[in-house]
Formats: sequence, structure tokens, C-alpha cells
Amino acid sequence: MTRLRFTVDHQSPHSKARAARFQTLHGEVLTPVFMPVGTQATVKGQTVDSLKAVGSRVLLANTYHLLLRPGREVFKRFGGIHRFMNWDGPVLTDSGGFQIFSLPGDRTMTEDGATFRSYVDGTLHLLSPESSIEMQRAIGSDIMMVLDQCIPSTAAYAQAEAAMELTHRWARRSLDARGDSPQALFGIVQGACHPALRKKSATFLSQLPFDGLAIGGLAVGETHAERYEFTGLVTDYLPADRPRYLMGVGTPIDILEAVHRGVDMFDCIIPSQVAQRGTAFTSHGKIKCARAVYKFSEEPLDAACDCQTCRDYSRAYLHHLVKADEMLGWHLLTVHNLAYYHRLMREMRASILRNEFLAFYAKKRLELARSDEANPSVFPAKAKVTRAPHRGDYEIVQSPQGFFSIRQISSGEIMHSVNRPSDEADAVYIAQSRLATRILLPAASSTNGYSYGAPPAPAPADGCAELVIWDVGLGAGSNAMAAIACFEQVLALHGASALRPLRIVSFECDLDPLILATAKSGRFPHLQHAAPHGLLGAGRWTHASGLLTWELVHGDFLAHFEGATAPDLIFYDPFSAKTDAALWTPEVFARLFACCRTKSVELFTYSASTAVRVALLSAGFFVAEGVGTGPKAATTVAFTSRAGRTHPPLAAQLLGAAWLARWRRSQSRFPAALPAEEHPAFAARLEAHPQFGGVPPVRA
Ligand SMILES: [Zn+2]
Repeated sequence: MTRLRFTVDHQSPHSKARAARFQTLHGEVLTPVFMPVGTQATVKGQTVDSLKAVGSRVLLANTYHLLLRPGREVFKRFGGIHRFMNWDGPVLTDSGGFQIFSLPGDRTMTEDGATFRSYVDGTLHLLSPESSIEMQRAIGSDIMMVLDQCIPSTAAYAQAEAAMELTHRWARRSLDARGDSPQALFGIVQGACHPALRKKSATFLSQLPFDGLAIGGLAVGETHAERYEFTGLVTDYLPADRPRYLMGVGTPIDILEAVHRGVDMFDCIIPSQVAQRGTAFTSHGKIKCARAVYKFSEEPLDAACDCQTCRDYSRAYLHHLVKADEMLGWHLLTVHNLAYYHRLMREMRASILRNEFLAFYAKKRLELARSDEANPSVFPAKAKVTRAPHRGDYEIVQSPQGFFSIRQISSGEIMHSVNRPSDEADAVYIAQSRLATRILLPAASSTNGYSYGAPPAPAPADGCAELVIWDVGLGAGSNAMAAIACFEQVLALHGASALRPLRIVSFECDLDPLILATAKSGRFPHLQHAAPHGLLGAGRWTHASGLLTWELVHGDFLAHFEGATAPDLIFYDPFSAKTDAALWTPEVFARLFACCRTKSVELFTYSASTAVRVALLSAGFFVAEGVGTGPKAATTVAFTSRAGRTHPPLAAQLLGAAWLARWRRSQSRFPAALPAEEHPAFAARLEAHPQFGGVPPVRA
């Protein structure tokens, strides 16, 4: 028997919806139930009385925020959150996992837990399964949650599997840490959008003595259809005799769909969040109170609602409060929205008990899909001229083979025009640079105790130091995402202790291509990942392992590269010399060469033109023939030192006498900007390059 004494009152036929009840230390809870979010031990702008008046029964509080402020000593002094905030009903606390992994800021992940810096006072904290339970015990919540590793629902299989396995180990530790506390404890099913992982996680956690099970990691990046699908998939594997909680969900229609799929408990900030923006859920659909149509309206917000807001105030007054940005407007709309949510839950429960849930579901879905039906603000649209999705100077184009690329409208140039962008990225940049091998630590050092939780041990050679990639010309993120995919594969195969830290520095002056492609990631599968969102949002994204950092240098490459961490690998992929000539000159490559002198650097680029190779050679690089890709017969690789030392496979392909002979006959033998009188000296220097050792310089 679990601590909650969960009993199902009625199970719907032809639907997984069920009405149930459970007992907490602070009274009984009837399900389906919606739990308002009281992050800082307060539901924003609400008093305990206003919460009780709208029908709130269980509140959710955030362990992470309460740990940092006011801190556990305050809860110990007060004997828990109930007396502290004057709430005598049940409280559920999350574990802090979601905040740790989703809020910006440095953190270090280990098997033990996550170390992070307080946003309140800068002190270091360790959030481990044990410390999270200890804090939740101090808070004295009725239901505690295990610490889990949250990752985006769009995470790749390997990353999702690693996070799930860690979450499982943490789940066992959390149960041990709970000990004989009378507080209930829920496990959290993870596995992103991978059916096999979700099934495995639900099955594994169901066998442990949890009092309930939660579905985590949804509502963080997936589509609504995916969320419904995975909710239904997971509840198929959860035991019928314990409550099921879908974390962080959602809108009224999301909740309706999840109840239909067998979920009992929900929490979400939406009722208060949309209230702050002046929006109310009503029986006529969603209403935006700021609209001028309500300026003189004497009607209540929702005639079908009996909350204090609808009883005592007019739409005109609410309109005025919202326009004046008065806090009473936020308060009154939150009161109404919470009343709306709780009424929806009660109606669902009643329809289940009456055996009429399916009919209720069918009718309510239509109602919830409406928005402000009484006062439509959008007039029927005229037939539109369709145009490809575009942003700024860029648009999405589809190739005859069916894949999508980004085209610069002004120049007409298509990024990675010749074949699927990810194929070109893999062939030219990832495979040729042997990236998978280079991010592995030398075999010997994988057993020296170095793990990603500890500070990196002093590297015996540069084989253990951070590997730095410069991604010049971020574009739609093809090359950087190919590198991230490669990293995630190697991590899955070898584990974190076998990897060097990887830093990708992307240079880009115009983010429109990435913003455009990320918004249409259905056409750019490589962007269906948390990383581009993180990079666009914060200029930086860190992999959950802490081993991979992706940074954006926003601006002109030529103005910024000399200040960046020196690279090991350069993916040189700006627009062509025709579109962006400034990035392909001998002077630029000379500056690049000077900047890279302290390391043995390899540069990869899609161009195989004589002019580009001449520019690289004249700058001092050793230049080799790179692989062909699509219809291109060759690309170019350049090294700062003799290739034999850094890259044996390509050393054999260093340009030699045959290329030199072709160069002597070439039309583009000299840089276009070079005055004719300097041609002989330039030619002499080129022929004297150590790469062509033995070929005597031509004397004028
Ligand atoms: Zn109301």
C-alpha cells in the first residue's frame, strides 16, 4: 500500500480517462486535478483565501527557488511550508531538476548531481538526489518529486538514453533518501520522443515503490501531436493503481487530451501567465481584455462563471485595468482563469463518473479550440499570393531532389547548393576532420580518473585539452549541428569519461538564415534540437553533459576572429568569393595563419578554386586536395604545419608538381588585387613554398 492510498472511483469505457482520489498529509484530493504553480511559496498575486475561493486544492512549489531563497533553515524554523505561507492544503514540490537544466547559468553535471551558482547570492550549491529530498523534507511537502535530468523532448536518442539512465539511478537514490518520511514520492518517466526509451523508463520506474509516477520532459519543444502521442504511450505502461502526473502541462485543451489518455494530475503557469498579458479563458473562447471592443462593455467577463471577477466586475473595468497595467487586473484575471481551470477539472471528473466522458470530450474539444468567437478580430482572409518562407534577405528553396536549402535573395546564392546540406557537412567537415576520433581522449587517459564532473586534469599533450572548432559562416547551422550530432554519437558509444571537451565557435554576421530555418525545422531536420534555440536565445548553448559548448560570435568574422580562442579545426564555409570576396583574400588567410601559429590547425573549405588555394599557399598554409561532394570533384584542406604530422591520410594529397604545373597555366594564377609588377615576386614565393620542396623558384 502506498502512502497516498490511491483509489480509482471510476474508469471510463472507451477512453483511458478515470476519476480517482488519494489521501495526503493535508487532506484528500479528487482527480483529475489541476495544481496552481506557487514558485516562490506564493501563486503570483493570489492570497490563500482567493485560492480557496476559486477551488484550488493542491499547490505546487519549486524546490530550486525555495532552496536559494529563503533557504532550508527558514522552513525548518517554521516546521514547513504550510505554516510559513498559511496554506493548510496539500503541497507538491518539484525536485529542482527542471530549473537546473533549463535556466541560464553555469552548472557542472556529475553522477552525483548538479553543481550550480545561486542567482541570488552567487554561492555554489550541489543539487543531488539526496540534497533535493532533504530540501523537500524541510519544506514539508505532501508529495515530493525525484531529481531527474531534464533534456529537450527533441533530444537525439543517445542523449535521451543517457539522461534516462541517469534519472533511473537518481530515482533509486531518491527513494533511499526519503527513508521513513511520511511524505509521498513520485518517480519521473523520461526518454524524450523515443518510444522505446519511454516504454523502458515507464516499465522500470513502475517496479519501484513510488507513490505515483510523473511524465517529465514533455512540453519542452515537441509538437502538440507528439505530446499527445507520447502521453498516451507512457500511460499504457504505467500501473493503474497509482496516480499519474503530466508535469508542466498545459493549456485547457492539452489537459483535456491528457485526461483522455489517462493522466490524473497537472500543473502549469499558464492561467497566471496569460492573465498577466490580459487574456482570459471563457466559455466563449479566449478573450483579450485589452481590445478596444471591451472599452464600454458592461457585461461580466464570462456570464457562465461564478468567480469573484465575473460576479463583481465588468469587462470595461478589466479592460481599463489591463490597459493601465494595474496589478489588480492581473490578480482578477488570474482568479478567473484558475476558476476556469478548476471548473474544467470538476466537469471532467463528473462526466467520467456519469460514464459520459467521451461525449464531454468531443464537445469540449471544439469549444476549447475557439478564440473570442463573439467578437472575431480577424476578418476572412483574401486569397494570398503564396511565397516561399523568407526572412530578411533569405528564403527557403526546395531542390529537385526534395531537400530544402536557404538562398540569399540578393545574390541568388544557395547555401550548400549541390547536395543535401547535412550530407555536405558530414563529408567535407566532419568525416575529413576525423572529428569523431579527435574528440576521444587518448586511450591511456580514459582510465586516469578524469571525468567531466572534475576539473580537467592537466593535459599530458594537447590530446586531452579542449578541442576548438571555428565554424566560419554559421548559415543555417548545418556544419555546427553535424559536429554536435557527431559529438552525441561518440558520447553514446564511449561515455563521457572518454571524451575531450569540445567548443564550437560559430561566426556569423547575419542570423536570419538560422532563425528562418529553425522556425521551419520540419524542412531542416538537423535543427530539430535544443541547440539552435539556445544559441539564438542566449548566444551560447551547453550540452547537458557539460562537455560541449556552442558559442556565437555575432558580427563580422574579420573583426572578431583574432580575439577568439585559437582553433584546432576551422570549418571555412562563408558565401563564395563571388558573393563575399572579402573573406577569400591572401591577406585574410595570412591573418588567419598568424593567428593559428601556436597550434597545429586544419582548415576545411568547400572551395577547390585555384584562386583560393593560391591565397592559402601564399599565406603559408600547406594545402591538400579534399574530398569531392555531390557533383564537386574536390574541395580543399589547409594545414598550418606539415600535414604528415597532423593528418596522415591527407598528407598524401598535398598539392604537388602536377598542381603547380596547372597553376602556371592558370588564368587565376595571381590574386586579382595584386599589381602586375609584383607578379614575379609572388610567383617566386609560391614556388619556394616548403610544400613544393625541390622545385626551384622562377626568377624573373
Ligand atoms: Zn470568472
